[in-house]
Amino acid sequence: MESQLPAEFIVNINHERCRKCKRCVINCSFSAIEFKDKVTANNRQCVACHRCATFCPENAITIIHNPLDYKDGYNWSPEIRKNILKQAESGGIILTGMGNPRPYPIYWDHMLIDACQVTNPSIDPLREPMELRTYLGAKPEALEFEGDIDNISLKTELAPQVKLDIPIVFAAMSYGAISLNAHKALAMAAKRMGTLMNTGEGGLHEDLAGYTDRIIVQVASGRFGVTSKYLNNSALVEIKIGQGAKPGIGGHLPGEKVGEDISKTRMIPVGTDALSPAPHHDIYSIEDLSQLIYAIKETTDYKKPVSVKIAAVHNVAAIASGIVRAGADIVMIDGFRGGTGAAPMVIRDHVGIPIELALAAVDDRLRQEGIRNRASILVGGSIRQSADVVKAIALGADACVIGTASLIAMGCRVCQKCYTGNCAWGIATQKPELVRRLNPEVGADRLCNLLTAWGHEIQEVLGSLGINAIESLRGSRERLRGVGLSQETLDILGIKHAGIGQ
Ligand code: SF4
Ligand code: SF4
Repeated sequence: MESQLPAEFIVNINHERCRKCKRCVINCSFSAIEFKDKVTANNRQCVACHRCATFCPENAITIIHNPLDYKDGYNWSPEIRKNILKQAESGGIILTGMGNPRPYPIYWDHMLIDACQVTNPSIDPLREPMELRTYLGAKPEALEFEGDIDNISLKTELAPQVKLDIPIVFAAMSYGAISLNAHKALAMAAKRMGTLMNTGEGGLHEDLAGYTDRIIVQVASGRFGVTSKYLNNSALVEIKIGQGAKPGIGGHLPGEKVGEDISKTRMIPVGTDALSPAPHHDIYSIEDLSQLIYAIKETTDYKKPVSVKIAAVHNVAAIASGIVRAGADIVMIDGFRGGTGAAPMVIRDHVGIPIELALAAVDDRLRQEGIRNRASILVGGSIRQSADVVKAIALGADACVIGTASLIAMGCRVCQKCYTGNCAWGIATQKPELVRRLNPEVGADRLCNLLTAWGHEIQEVLGSLGINAIESLRGSRERLRGVGLSQETLDILGIKHAGIGQ
């Protein structure tokens, strides 16, 4: 059927500047640029991945939104109309990638951080030590010691802990959804920065064998690549129940993406669709979940913390409480703006709740029940900058998880076309000619730079708060104030409105 959809973007070529080197043609993986005596654009194919403009040596390319005016209509917005046209042509679910782009409130941007003035001194992070280290895992109710003052030792047996040198962890992204080079870059950066990367549900590629002490291995509903060796080759194990971008639904890696390497890593035949069911077919209750948690603990000799990842949904606080009581050492909550390689647009854009509200509700509930120390809280799903990390920790998180931000650091332009497998930046693709565009060493350097920069910024904020350790900030909601929020929202977040003192 001939498409009635207009092009979303216009690629303008400045032919006076163009020296016909064809770099743009070679770099465009969406066939939006061709060479016929001169460079010409097929605007309908352009996804605004910016690869051509970045690599044009003459700055001869600009990409703009197609300046088509639509008849005014708040209800029938251009996006709604475009989606109806798409479905009238395809008859199918609209697939998309990355996170929810809709203009729901971003509560991080309505929270402001306190600072010391006169009566309580701030700390200069350039002159005094500033601790960003934190530990993931269950903490004891109390510490008992034995011996005397000259020979004292800890009597309390500690649950396994994983040390993070910075409270930022790379999010679960599977080999299959992203390339092996992207996985390598994440693993190298995690090792260098003393943090963790997460295999996602795609298994652990043998090339990452040297990084296992910095890797979270995931057990998801498809159980791809899960063996006792896989579970033991890790810093910690995560059971994935849900994902912020697509709560309540499973995943699907099409067979054409399952080549030799992915088939080996996931332990499925080449060319078969990798289907992750919506639920784990052996988990229908907290008791079932507890059985899996303890099966993993048995398999790993009680040496690895076990995390359970859930999407932020309406009843998240009660669910998190059940997870902690089931024996999880870490609860990972993924907000509704979390990224994905592929999700139905209707789910990504309309299901779930914001991570800020979910985090506050979970931390409150666990405190009220007296079980907050039994598990660490990790949060992700729209952590965009260091300020978000500080606010999340003040709201009650132990550490944050970054997915989209880490991909952007490696070159991603958030074009939302991950599900096509044509990522021009070598990230969300398995095509060898595209994968090699991402040099893992360069990717790792960029990720390390991002975390280093955020680390410095977090130290600056801690200094201004008069705090010298990130662990002292956890749950300090009195250091946050809200602006432009309703009383109900302030109550959920557990913070006061700006202008109200202690
Ligand atoms: S990359 Fe730039 S200079 Fe080279 S052909 Fe394309 S538009 Fe022309
Ligand atoms: S990973 Fe690649 S395809 Fe996906 S949004 Fe980023 S640039 Fe686009």
